[in-house]
Amino acid sequence: EGKKSLNFIEQIVETDLAEGKNDGRIQTRFPPEPNGYLHIGHAKAICIDFGIAQRYGGVCNLRFDDTNPVKEDVEYVDAIREDIEWLGFKWGNVYYASDYFQKLYDFAERLILEGHAYVDEQTAEQIAAQKGTPTVPGVASPYRDRPAEESLDLFRRMNAGEFEEGAMILRAKIDMASSNMHFRDPIIYRIIKHAHHRTGHDWNVYPMYDFAHGQSDYFEGVTHSICTLEFEVHRPLYNYFIELLRKDNYAPRQIEFNRLNLTYTMMSKRKLLQLVKDGLVAGWDDPRMPTICGYRRRGYTPESIRSFIDKIGYTKYDGIIDVALLEHAVREDLNKRATRVSGVIDPVKLVITNYPEGKVEQMTAVNNPEDESAGTHTIPFARELYIEREDFMEDAPKKYFRMTPGQEVRLKSSYIVRCTGCKKDEQGVVTEVYAEYDPMTLSGMPESNRKVKGTIHWVSAEHSLSAEVRLYDRLFTDENPSDVKDKTLEEMINPDSLKVLTHCRVEPFLADAAVGAHFQFQRIGYFTVDRDSRSGALVFNRTVSLKDSWQK
Ligand code: ATP
Ligand code: MG
Ligand code: MG
Repeated sequence: EGKKSLNFIEQIVETDLAEGKNDGRIQTRFPPEPNGYLHIGHAKAICIDFGIAQRYGGVCNLRFDDTNPVKEDVEYVDAIREDIEWLGFKWGNVYYASDYFQKLYDFAERLILEGHAYVDEQTAEQIAAQKGTPTVPGVASPYRDRPAEESLDLFRRMNAGEFEEGAMILRAKIDMASSNMHFRDPIIYRIIKHAHHRTGHDWNVYPMYDFAHGQSDYFEGVTHSICTLEFEVHRPLYNYFIELLRKDNYAPRQIEFNRLNLTYTMMSKRKLLQLVKDGLVAGWDDPRMPTICGYRRRGYTPESIRSFIDKIGYTKYDGIIDVALLEHAVREDLNKRATRVSGVIDPVKLVITNYPEGKVEQMTAVNNPEDESAGTHTIPFARELYIEREDFMEDAPKKYFRMTPGQEVRLKSSYIVRCTGCKKDEQGVVTEVYAEYDPMTLSGMPESNRKVKGTIHWVSAEHSLSAEVRLYDRLFTDENPSDVKDKTLEEMINPDSLKVLTHCRVEPFLADAAVGAHFQFQRIGYFTVDRDSRSGALVFNRTVSLKDSWQK
């Protein structure tokens, strides 16, 4: 921190400040369209929008970009606010692009009167066919030179609801031969007869993104309008409208950065909505989703997401980030904060044959070896325990340092035991494992330092609680699912992305664990308590396994 060099956006802002632009004022905005839940790509935008304001003593406002009533909903507005706050950011004001519908409409009428816009009655197909290509100039609409009064009358009647959707549109009159396709008389208003989540049926015409975004920035006094690279080609149009609109020296400045793409997932809200609607996931907050609420339910922390965004940085080049880097950031953070506990996800009984029946000892378990102040808790030890089925092998290879006849292992936070054998059913499945303990091997006792190669975790059979454990893996089997053309979403889903284990056993310390609390099931992974969890019917989500596949 501090020593890190500035990213290119910070450099631009510092140059603007040094030149005294906007009297040193810094104002940014985060402009989500309330048509879905926020995903980790949005987190990248949030970190820079809010981060710039924080770093340079400015303000970042939240603006809902709600100019398309068909897809937008209050459900999303509320969820977006919750997710931004959870990520740890505070906005100045909350604005809505719909607050500016009147101003934008008035500006459109002005453009018509000044000869900068006209009503086109052609179909969308006809207009598209006339666009041309970057090297072939477009063809002018037959309505391009109609009198301003005629366009004004039609535009007013469009808004009065006289015409059907698609019957006509309002276009800016700029340059049908421009090398920038966005200048070839872009559509600025269309008829939509759907109720708007805030303005109801007040309007029958709605501004297009390019006509709303820059002007909204201008109305609010935004100094730096940070967005993703696909808007770079829109920037001249952004500036063009502001140039026509402004009455002073002030103009917001658009800066573009590379959007976040992650392997084994996709960021398109349209596709994420489809996953939800088709029931391919359990909802927007399914822990396999790349949404903020999905990651929260999965057990990711806001700190780990912010640290990941910080590691990837901001550039001008699009690419795809290895999801292993995100998982690495999550482990790094949870290692510092997760309480270590014992949970056996595939239990088999271990009987300590020389331990007295009925006896119970409270062993001391360290909560977090990374953080002494986290303290300790107790874990009951008794004659009958559960261990992981995979921690016992009857005929083990040489390097198997776990439970196998004749070999000693340490039971975590407890005694050293020597395996003496096992019992099997008719199918040859192990039903019980046997061992003898050495009572002189507890921590601090004479034999406690004896060399034992393996340490395994365990819980008391009688005192442990049954639990459901949900193991998550990557949602898609393809590294870049957005690029896959010949498969449906359903066909692309990783069939192993969710495994539910219902017979797990966890130590009694977890009886009252709060939803969202972070734990490390020792030797297994990081887990959090799912919101489905109830006292007596505990449910844990695996946040991430312990093994790090990130190559530094
Ligand atoms: P989609 O295309 O999936 O609907 P969007 O970009 O339209 O997403 P918005 O709600 O308009 O979604 O996005 C709000 C802000 O978040 C915009 O400034 C946008 O540039 C930014 N953003 C969206 N996706 C990403 C991403 N993957 N990486 C970085 N920033 C993103
Ligand atoms: Mg979009
Ligand atoms: Mg958008």
